[in-house]
Amino acid sequence: DLNTFKDPKRARKLIGAIEAVAPEHATLMEVCGTHTVSIARFGIRNVMPAGTRLASGPGCPVCVTANEDIDVAIALARTPDAIITTFGDMTRVPGSTSSLNKEKAQGRDIRVVYSPLDALAVAKANPERQVIFLGVGFETTTPLVAIAIKRAKAEGLANFSVYAACKNMPNALDVLMGDPELKVDALILPGHVSTIIGMEPYRFLAEKYRIPGVIAGFEPLDILDALLMIFRQLSEGRADIENAYARGVMPHGNEVALAAIDEVFETCTVSWRGLGPIEGSGYRIREEFAAYDAMRRFAPTVEETREHKGCRCGDVLRGIMTPAECPLFRKACSPENPIGPCMVSSEGSCAAYYRYY
Ligand code: SF4
Repeated sequence: DLNTFKDPKRARKLIGAIEAVAPEHATLMEVCGTHTVSIARFGIRNVMPAGTRLASGPGCPVCVTANEDIDVAIALARTPDAIITTFGDMTRVPGSTSSLNKEKAQGRDIRVVYSPLDALAVAKANPERQVIFLGVGFETTTPLVAIAIKRAKAEGLANFSVYAACKNMPNALDVLMGDPELKVDALILPGHVSTIIGMEPYRFLAEKYRIPGVIAGFEPLDILDALLMIFRQLSEGRADIENAYARGVMPHGNEVALAAIDEVFETCTVSWRGLGPIEGSGYRIREEFAAYDAMRRFAPTVEETREHKGCRCGDVLRGIMTPAECPLFRKACSPENPIGPCMVSSEGSCAAYYRYY
């Protein structure tokens, strides 16, 4: 229903233009959880020209967090007298044998916050307790985590630390686009992440893989604009990185945020759910800020990491399977009883499919 678009007239025009230039066959992938939700919510798949399709990629930070990281978070929650602060979705993600919510039910102190800076406030209000923030997110979250650590150091806050599990998107895209099983012709690039990193880090997509990429905003018309730009590139045989979200993204990103990340973190190899270990895709706290690293402070131990039987989140995150193709979808797995993180997180593909299809 075109009336769900804020400006149905413009939407109709864009859809007509998209149909006029779309190739016979093309698979486009979105790699941002907010896009996944917008695409599902506004029914954008229904206006894709015949022969073309939209696949979802690893755009939900909670979903790509590996089971071993969830297990470490649970082990940290068992630290005597600790307060765990985290974004809400993380509390429901099942680890190998427990979840943060289950730990909370057993009396551990787990609090939902909306920003790492809120976690700092919890630390200040509880000077006799150790407050650990679970740093999970992409380039939009990482600068805030860096700022929280810098502030804690500047204020001499001795009871605050971070479990650093943030990730960056371009290195994951490099691995994904090199995957022979995945046939993607173009990428809808994430608006929020690009606000921080700008356009340059995606250049390799066009140069190494000849894959067009267009940065998109989150309103339905923004996404249609980006689709039109992608289809134009495909029909002209071009592969460029373009920006359909000029009101939010500067070509060089946000230099202040990037400097904060660089001051506090260095990149390292980390494991992604579904994609495995990816070089340079994670952030480790630098030596100068080691006192704020929960891993160094508490050295948590995890006995055994096991995957969830039957859950296909890994394949969903690689875009080689739609949530509906998972045998557990809508059967054993639902938002009330999620088996994997893609059904837990509000930005997860399985949750978006469950809600809107
Ligand atoms: Fe995993 Fe559930 Fe998604 Fe299947 S539907 S991939 S079990 S989260």
